[in-house]
Amino acid sequence: MRYLILSDVHGNLDALDAVLADATGTWDRVIVLGDLAGYGAEPNGVLDRVRALDPIAIIRGNHDKAACGLDDGSQFNQVARAAATWTFENLTPDNREYLRKLPQGPIAVDDVVEICHGAPFDEDHYIFDGLDAHRAISMLRRPVCFFGHTHLPVIFKLDEHDFTGAAPNGDPQTRVPLEAHAKYLVNPGSVGQPRDGDPRAAYGLMDSGARLVLLCRVSYPVESAQRKILAAGLPATLANRLAVGR
Ligand code: ZN
Repeated sequence: MRYLILSDVHGNLDALDAVLADATGTWDRVIVLGDLAGYGAEPNGVLDRVRALDPIAIIRGNHDKAACGLDDGSQFNQVARAAATWTFENLTPDNREYLRKLPQGPIAVDDVVEICHGAPFDEDHYIFDGLDAHRAISMLRRPVCFFGHTHLPVIFKLDEHDFTGAAPNGDPQTRVPLEAHAKYLVNPGSVGQPRDGDPRAAYGLMDSGARLVLLCRVSYPVESAQRKILAAGLPATLANRLAVGR
């Protein structure tokens, strides 16, 4: 099976469409790691697009919970809370209901892959460092776990000798061959709000038959997404950060 892995789209339809165009013909089923909504100006466009893709597995993120009223956003900073309120008010009732019903991670996709938004032990926890990554990778029930939430692409690997963590090299595609007897904890990065200093949209591909993961980057019309954010009356910070990938 070939999977397209999408995380943290955050209402950025321009970025999502660029990813779907770039990945055309390379996948069979879609996996979504949460945070479809929040920050961007087109949460309904993103939700309609993703729902039409009929994901084989999809989980909620913290912004999805706030966007549908499951969470009051009290943990958010001012900008994120303003965006969550705007998103809640602008989502169609049907899309709000769809977000409300999304399962909490971690969930298993098949015998090889599981997914979570933040961490396997807490859907809202940020895995930034090796300590948290090691705790997470040690408790996996599958050889490969994809996660999101930090918006930072990274590959952690644990085998009998070693535990390593590395960011992809910034090429349009970084190849990660999956070794037998190793465990992998992989963040494909964010489609709609990258934070690693690279404004390009990030996404993942996995070919379970070929035992290969690809971490991909593709440019998208950032100015278009920025214009829509400003026109919607969302905080200008949310438009500005897209240009610098922060
Ligand atoms: Zn996010």
